[in-house]
Amino acid sequence: MMKITLPDGSIREYAKGSTPMDIAKSISEGFARNVISAKFNDTVVETVTPLNEDGSLVLYTWKDKGGKKAFWHSSSHIVAQALEELYPGIKLTIGPAIDNGFYYDVDFGEHTLSEKDFPLIEKKALEIARGKHDFKMRPISKAEALSLYKSQGNEFKVELIENLEDGTITFCDHDTFTDLCRGGHIPNTGIVKAIKILNVAGAYWRGDEKKPQLTRIYGISFPKQKELTEYLALVEEAKKRDHRKLGKELELFAFSQKVGQGLPLWLPKGAALRERLEDFLKKAQKKAGYEMVITPHIGQKELYVTSGHYEKYGADSFQPIHTPKEDEEFLLKPMNCPHHCEIYNVRPFSYRELPKRYAEFGTVYRYEQSGELHGLTRVRGFTQDDAHIFCTPDQLDQEFKNVIDLSLYVLGSLGFDNFTAQVSVRDLDTPEKYIGSVENWEKAENAIINAAKEKGLDYVIEKGEAAFYGPKLDFMVKDALGRQWQLGTIQVDYNLPERFDLTYKGSDNELHRPVMIHRAPFGSMERFIALLLEHTGGNFPLWLIPEQAIVLPVSEKHEKYAEKVLKSLENDEIRALVDARNETVGKKIREAEMNKIPFMLIVGENEEASNTISVRRHGGEDLGSISLEQFSDLVTTEINSTLKSF
Ligand SMILES: [Zn+2]
Ligand SMILES: [Zn+2]
Repeated sequence: MMKITLPDGSIREYAKGSTPMDIAKSISEGFARNVISAKFNDTVVETVTPLNEDGSLVLYTWKDKGGKKAFWHSSSHIVAQALEELYPGIKLTIGPAIDNGFYYDVDFGEHTLSEKDFPLIEKKALEIARGKHDFKMRPISKAEALSLYKSQGNEFKVELIENLEDGTITFCDHDTFTDLCRGGHIPNTGIVKAIKILNVAGAYWRGDEKKPQLTRIYGISFPKQKELTEYLALVEEAKKRDHRKLGKELELFAFSQKVGQGLPLWLPKGAALRERLEDFLKKAQKKAGYEMVITPHIGQKELYVTSGHYEKYGADSFQPIHTPKEDEEFLLKPMNCPHHCEIYNVRPFSYRELPKRYAEFGTVYRYEQSGELHGLTRVRGFTQDDAHIFCTPDQLDQEFKNVIDLSLYVLGSLGFDNFTAQVSVRDLDTPEKYIGSVENWEKAENAIINAAKEKGLDYVIEKGEAAFYGPKLDFMVKDALGRQWQLGTIQVDYNLPERFDLTYKGSDNELHRPVMIHRAPFGSMERFIALLLEHTGGNFPLWLIPEQAIVLPVSEKHEKYAEKVLKSLENDEIRALVDARNETVGKKIREAEMNKIPFMLIVGENEEASNTISVRRHGGEDLGSISLEQFSDLVTTEINSTLKSF
């Protein structure tokens, strides 16, 4: 017999050789029908793998992340079979599950795959799925595996197998198809009821630009047709909300091939919006006791050697800038922290002067692979709303709570209410991975968890996700597609104070090491604005939106009055403009709607006579004729209701 521990902590005894599916059935037949994958002692196994030792077992259904992964991984096998049958002679490489579906990288030789081919592939794959073929794993010797792929002329699989150890290699068979695979499948192909090929893209073999280019086919699959339909509707919605599309339409930012990939250009409206965000945070930071600092965009290579960044990221970064002076090298700043450490080091501090909180909207540069660049979410130059807090270990608790308060204020004022917090702590089994004393780590982790609890955050603890230099808390939001994004972050750091030899004089008159907190409530201005665009679909909170109102004269006759209205709005600090084009009011309204302007103020005969405006809200609500004073009050009230005080 063997003892199997289930996720609820219960321990049951089973005969050796029982499979995860046997165990599922012993729990309940109904439950077993939904089980599609399993994990035994932290290793993914097949539902038919015989278990022979004590251990902990997790059984996955479609609802679990692990279940989806097995489902999509298995679907990539089905699609690969369909591709092989439709396009004989192609070379398969790798085909993993991803967050939303799966992909397969294929060398199609002469054939170029296009969207027109998708329905055919989907049809073929579904046909195969309906055959209800079992996925069967089998071990194979290295020599045999190599000989199979050599006979097929598939140099990619040969390369993969050459890097594997003999005795560890397995194949997966279903129907007439075989693939090199480590395992983790659903029981049979019949569970897959809907398959959609989403798109194709180029991808280099092993992500290396010097290696052959392959075709990457993205797909997704579901256990019900209805779920696919719902997913596709969400994708359509997400396309409408794509920040790259909205950013262009709303004239916020642009990219220029001449300036360079991944280097965003902020257009006047975008720059003004960004400035409003910065001012908003600066004001709150001032109240929270931060001091602004300014540091240069480059730093001597030595600075980053000291910080450890050079050793870690140097080779993959923008390469050093040389000067006429030999042996002198500068790096584009990849992080603001080393500069801020040097600011702290300008003069000695006593414990009574701490914490010091240095804030900077610091622009940093990181060399991202061109294939990784994506709108404003993955760029090569971006501005962090950065700050570093230097405090005594005893102050950590309070400082952490203060930063959470600030972050909650920021998220709340921008309409993010559906977020969670992720607390990343050590893996206690691998203490050698972390720098700093165990005592300090315990203090910091407890400080973070207590702060999260006390502030009523919806949080999860991720073991082993902490950085080597300290634990952290990240704020995460989900978008319309259920994709999770990281917003602000708060990190404790024991490493940099050590490396930069930062000290303060304690009450005992001895020198001590301060603790450092890195924090950025927005993360970066670029990324945050991208997420805000996708989150709001361009309907920014009223306090932030570029134009709050547009005045629409019904004819040329009322242009003068429209200008008078505009002046009055400007006096009340309402951002507005007049659309004086010789177009119908209907057309002007449609365009104002497209441009997401919250208020349309229509002025004609009656309005001019009564010194009023007719107000229409974005989306169509008619607020009727009101005075300018009433309108101004309306705007102020609405702004105050989102922009909470801090
Ligand atoms: Zn597989
Ligand atoms: Zn930092």
